[in-house]
Amino acid sequence: MKSYSNIVDFVRETYNLPEAFIPLHDPRFIGNERKYLNECIDTNFVSSVGEFVSRFEKLCADYTGSRYAVAAMNGTAALHMALHINGVTRGDEVITQSLTFIATANAISYTGAHPVFLDVDRDTMGLSPQAVEAWLVENAEMRATEGNTPSGSGSRYSAYNKYTNRRIAACVPMHSFGHPVRIEELMLVLDQYNIPLIEDAAESLGSFIGERHTGTFGRCGILSFNGNKVITTGGGGMILTNDESLAKMAKHLTTQAKVPHRWEFRHDFVGYNYRLTNLAAALGCAQIESLDHILRLKRDLANKYRDWFNDAPWQFFAEREGTRANYWLNVILANNREERDEILQYTNDHGVMTRPVWELMTDLPMFEQCQHDDLINSRWFADRVVNLPSSAVIEGYGKMM
Ligand SMILES: *Cc1c(COP(=O)(O)O)cnc(C)c1O
Repeated sequence: MKSYSNIVDFVRETYNLPEAFIPLHDPRFIGNERKYLNECIDTNFVSSVGEFVSRFEKLCADYTGSRYAVAAMNGTAALHMALHINGVTRGDEVITQSLTFIATANAISYTGAHPVFLDVDRDTMGLSPQAVEAWLVENAEMRATEGNTPSGSGSRYSAYNKYTNRRIAACVPMHSFGHPVRIEELMLVLDQYNIPLIEDAAESLGSFIGERHTGTFGRCGILSFNGNKVITTGGGGMILTNDESLAKMAKHLTTQAKVPHRWEFRHDFVGYNYRLTNLAAALGCAQIESLDHILRLKRDLANKYRDWFNDAPWQFFAEREGTRANYWLNVILANNREERDEILQYTNDHGVMTRPVWELMTDLPMFEQCQHDDLINSRWFADRVVNLPSSAVIEGYGKMM
């Protein structure tokens, strides 16, 4: 029977790294990165002005099929802005999953809204439409509202939590490790309650549901280009939307809400300095040119893991039918928490980096008072998930370092 040491041997063999430390995920600079960065330096456009930002926005819009893409300094800022321009504000409630990276819950908190943490599905690791529906049936009622969202598209009836009297202002599912949430079912539920959908697609660039890219189903979606994501700008994010007025507002508010003028300093909202630098965008332009290549290599790696774990005592988490995962981080499921800890201990002791899933948001001191449901599947995953090294395997790449 396959043992923990076989996992270590297999990962080392796959990366052709018999001794060196193997990280969980590191970037691959295999295209025009140096060239574009040098262009920034040679032209003096390294900061808030320069052609790479709009070029990167266009490339992201084209790749995802989103009508608009607005760059931001990181994915967390992009999510904060996406919530803000959709009218999420102090005292509201926002539904999300408890099994997520802290950024999702933090961005909700920045608006002053209260996160509500619901359970995930066993075949997606993402927000469960059934859990959302059950919670809404129990807690929500429709009430007439006066006033509009900043985009002017507010509806006359909004969902309210009948126990807290707070407006349920948005729902933020997250496509965990690049595995798409059941988004169409979720939309059917949310539509009944007029609750805007905002997708945290930070981990799912290159993941599709049918032919449609994750992050393009809701009013807004966001991407992240942090150093550990599928492609990176060092730090960066993107707001995706098909709504022109939301896109314009996102651009305006992420750039200090300055009214365009050749010399005057006039600002017409409380804005944010959330812009992406031209340097970061230059890196992004080069990286997105390599995206399909990187995704192919990641898929090859995932297939190798899937085949190898087929006759191992731990289950490989594979993409759901009808979806295409980017396999950002590969996941295996231990049989219980004790075994998970043993795998983590053994692999990390032997220079092969593995990680558990995030602690549930509802187990963290800032969020332990928040509303939640039974979180049965979330706890099930928290006990079992082990992320395996998932960087694209490129011949000779590791040896250069
Ligand atoms: C990476 C990530 C973000 C955004 O992170 P940044 O580091 O701010 O770019 C948001 N949500 C999730 C789930 C993430 O994994």
